[in-house]
Amino acid sequence: MIAVPSPLRLRLSSEALVANWRWLARQSGAAACGAALKADGYGLGASAVMRHLSAAGCCDFFVATWAEAVALMPLPAGVSLSVLHGVGESDMVAARLLPARPVLNSVEQVRRWREAGEGRPCDVMIDTGMNRLGLRVEEALSGALNGLTIETLHSHLASADEDSDQNVRQLAAFRAIREQIPARRYSLANSAGICLGSDFAFDLTRPGIALYGGTPRGEARGHIQQVAFPEARVLQVRAVPAGETVGYGASWTASRDSRIAVVNLGYADGYRRCHAGSGGGTWQGQALPLVGRVSMDLTAFDASEAVGIGEGDWLSLDYELLTVSAQSGLSQYELLTGLGKRFER
Ligand SMILES: *Cc1c(COP(=O)(O)O)cnc(C)c1O
Repeated sequence: MIAVPSPLRLRLSSEALVANWRWLARQSGAAACGAALKADGYGLGASAVMRHLSAAGCCDFFVATWAEAVALMPLPAGVSLSVLHGVGESDMVAARLLPARPVLNSVEQVRRWREAGEGRPCDVMIDTGMNRLGLRVEEALSGALNGLTIETLHSHLASADEDSDQNVRQLAAFRAIREQIPARRYSLANSAGICLGSDFAFDLTRPGIALYGGTPRGEARGHIQQVAFPEARVLQVRAVPAGETVGYGASWTASRDSRIAVVNLGYADGYRRCHAGSGGGTWQGQALPLVGRVSMDLTAFDASEAVGIGEGDWLSLDYELLTVSAQSGLSQYELLTGLGKRFER
C-alpha cells in the first residue's frame, strides 16, 4: 500500500482536553469525574482521548456499544469502562469476554444478564423522566434488580442545558431511588448537569461535550477551551475579477478583483451547507471568509487579504463550537460528530 497523506486533518489539543476535564472534575466536587467516549470520542478519536484523560487521572469511561468497547482494548491500567446501551442478545459474547460493564437498560436486559450467570458487577440505568433508556422507577422498585451487584446506578437528565423544572423533578426522583436501590455509586450528571451544581454530582459525573470544547450552559462560558481544530488544504488560489461569481448557483459575486482559495473540504466531510454565509477560516492570523455555497468536496474562501497563501497551505477552519453552533444552527454535538472519515486525526 502507498501511504497517501489526507488533505484534511483534525488536530486535537490534548492540553485543552485535559484542562477541560480538570475544570469539570473541580465542578464535580467530591464526586469522581468520568468521560463519555461514545461516537469515537465525539469524533475526535476515542483511544487518544482515553489515553490522555486516564494519564490525567480519569478512571471512568463510557461508550455506547460493545463495538466501541472492543476498539478501546486493551484498557489502560486502573480504568473502568461501561457500555451505555447495555446488552442485546448479540452482545453477550462480547459482554462475557471484555473487561467492561453493561449499563442495563430494561427488565429484559436485566434478565439476560442474570441468565448469563456471570454474577459480575453491572451498571443500571433508571429512567427518571426522559423516556429514552432505562428501567422505569416502578420496575426498579418492584424487585427487578434484587440480587444484582450494581457498581453504578445511573439516570440521565433530559433538559440539563435549559433552566427547566424537569431538572429538579429528575433530581428528586433520583434521590428517592437512591434510598431504595443499593449500588456502590450513583451518577446523574452529564456536562450540563455538572453546571447545575453539586447537588447533581452524587458519586460520579459523566461529561462528554464539555470535554471536547462544547459549552453546555452559561456557567461554563470562559472555562471551556477549544479542543478540536479542523484544517483543510488549499487546492488552488484563483484570481476572480470583480463582477464574476463563484460556485454553484453563482450565489457570490466578487465586489472587487479577488483571490479565491479553493479548499479540499465539503459537505461529504461534514462541513455542511449551512456554513455558507457565516463560515470562515484563518491562515497565518488572516481571516478568510467562506464565499458561495459549500460543495461536496470543495469550498471557496476569500483569500484577497491573505497575501502569500497558495496551493498546499493549510487553512484553519473557524470551529469554536458555541460560536459556530449559533451561526450555523447545528448543535455543538453535530459539529463534532459530523466531521468525516477524510479528516486525519
Ligand atoms: C452522552 C451521554 C453523556 C454525556 O453527555 P454530554 O451532554 O455530552 O455531556 C452522559 N451520560 C449519558 C447516559 C450519555 O448518553
